[in-house]
Amino acid sequence: MSATDTALDKRDDTLISVNPATGDTLATYRIDDEEAVRAAVAKARTASATWGALSYAERKKHLLRWNSKLVEKSEALCDLIHAENGKPRDDAFLELMLALEHIAWAAKNAEKVLKPKKVSPGALMANFAAYLEQRPMGVVGVIGPWNYPIYTPNGSIAYALAAGNAVVFKPSEFSTGIGNFFAAAFREANPELPDGVFTTINGYGATGAALVRSGVDKIAFTGSTATGKKIMAAAAETLTPVLLECGGKDAVIVAADADIKAAADAIAWGATGNSGQTCAGVERVYVDKSVATELIAEVKRILTDIKPGSGEKANYGPMTMPGQVDIVRRHIEDALKNGGKAVLGGPESIKDNYIEPVILVDVDESSDAVAEETFGPTVTIRTVDGIDEAVRLANNNKYGLGSAVYSKKHGLEIARRLAVGCTSVNSVLGFAAIAALPFGGTRDSGIGRIHGAPGMLEFTQPHSIAVQRFTIPGMALLSYSRTESTMKLLRKVVPLLHGRNK
Ligand code: NAD
Repeated sequence: MSATDTALDKRDDTLISVNPATGDTLATYRIDDEEAVRAAVAKARTASATWGALSYAERKKHLLRWNSKLVEKSEALCDLIHAENGKPRDDAFLELMLALEHIAWAAKNAEKVLKPKKVSPGALMANFAAYLEQRPMGVVGVIGPWNYPIYTPNGSIAYALAAGNAVVFKPSEFSTGIGNFFAAAFREANPELPDGVFTTINGYGATGAALVRSGVDKIAFTGSTATGKKIMAAAAETLTPVLLECGGKDAVIVAADADIKAAADAIAWGATGNSGQTCAGVERVYVDKSVATELIAEVKRILTDIKPGSGEKANYGPMTMPGQVDIVRRHIEDALKNGGKAVLGGPESIKDNYIEPVILVDVDESSDAVAEETFGPTVTIRTVDGIDEAVRLANNNKYGLGSAVYSKKHGLEIARRLAVGCTSVNSVLGFAAIAALPFGGTRDSGIGRIHGAPGMLEFTQPHSIAVQRFTIPGMALLSYSRTESTMKLLRKVVPLLHGRNK
C-alpha cells in the first residue's frame, strides 16, 4: 500500500491536499526536494545543539507549553483532521487527547529514564567507577502515515524531542496540513527557541526517501511494511539506524468464559472504527465454539446500525486513501471465493469511498482476507476448538503487532502465549493509550518500540564512562607493566569467580 505507487504521486513541485469526503482542494504545498530536505536537516542540526543542551526541566517546560497550545487550538485542529483525514471530529479529539498524554509522559519522564546511572564495575574492575549515560542522537527524521496523523508520528516526535533531539517530520501526503499544524503549534508555543527544533518537510515518498539519505541520525518510520523495507534498505547505505512501525493483522481471542457482550462491543468498534484504518485494529477473531453463535450474532447486531459518512452522526468517515478501497474489495471477494460467508454486508457494502461494516465468517486461513492487512471496516471470525487452536492460528501470521484476549479467568495466561508486541486483556487497543507501555511489533510489523521508557531510549545513544579512581599496585591489567605475580593471582581468582557452577 505504498503511497508512492498511487496515481496521486505527482511529478511536479506541488502537493494538493484534498478532502476525502468531498474531493475539494484544502491547500497546496511546495514539495521539498533533496536540496530542501538537506537544508531542513542542516537547520535542525544547528537547533539540536541548543535544544540538546537544555536541562530536562527546561525541555519539559517547552513540551508542556506545546501541549497547552494544542489544547488552545484544539477546535481548529480537530476541524482540520476531520477535513483532511475524514474521521469524525470526536475521533479527532480522542486522537489529540492521546497525543497530549504521550507528550506529557515523555516530558515528565525523560529525566527519570535517561539520567546518568552509576553501574557496578564488577569485582575485577573494583578500582573503577562506571557510568551509563544516554545522549541525544542529534537529528531524528520522522516519516508518518495518515491514519492517525498526529497520534502515530507523535509516538516518535514527542519522545525524540524529550530526549534532546531535533526532529524533521515528513507527514503523509494525505495529512500534510495536519502535520504542519502540529509542528507550527510547537513553534508558536515556544517562540524563543531557535527555528528547526521541530520542523516539517512536505511531499510524497520521494521526499521521505530524501530524508532517509539526508544524514539524519535516526529514521523513525510509521507506515506500510513494503515502505518500511525500502527505508531499511536505503538506510543501510549509511548505517542510519531505523525504527519501523509497520502494518498489522491483529487477532482477538474470545475464550469460552468471556463476557460476550463486552467482547462483541470491542470487536465491533476495533474492527470498524476509523474505517478500519488502524494498524492495531481488529482484523481477525478466533472464538471458542461454545460461544461462537452468540458472539457472531452480537457483533452483527451492533454493526448493523453502524454507518460511515461525513456528517455529525456518522460513526466513521470515508476511506482516506482512494487506493485502499480496491484492496478491501479484493479481500472481501477473495474471502467469499475461499469458503467464507458474509454474515453482514459483502462487496455491495463498498459505496465509492465509504465502506459499510462487513463480517466474514470461517474464511480459509490462507486467503488474503486472513493473511494480509486489509485496513478497512471488515473482520473475519473463525470458530475454534479451544484456546490452543486459537493461539496457534492467531500466531500463524506474518504480522505480530497487537492482539486482544477476552476471558474472565485466563486472560493474562493466554496473552503471554501470543507472539506479538502488545496485547489487551478484556479490551482492545488498551496498550496504545497507556503512555508508559511501549508499542510496536514483531516480524513484518516492524523493528523497535515507540512510547514508554523503551520508546525514549530509541532516540538516545548510550555513552559508557569508566573512571579509574585509584590504581592497585601490581594489578595493572591494561598495561605492559603487568607482572607475572598478577597473572598468577588472576589464574586463582578467575576459577573462583566463574568456575564453580556445576
Ligand atoms: P505508506 O508506507 O504508504 O506511507 C507512509 C509514509 O512513508 C508516507 O509519509 C510516505 O510518503 C512515505 N514514503 C513512501 N515511500 C517512501 C520511501 N521510499 N522512502 C521514504 N518514505 C516513503 O503507509 P500509509 O499508507 O501512509 O500508512 C498505512 C500503513 O501504516 C498501514 O500498513 C498501517 O498498518 C501502518 N501503520 C502502522 C502503525 C504502527 O504503529 N505500527 C501505525 C499507523 C499505521
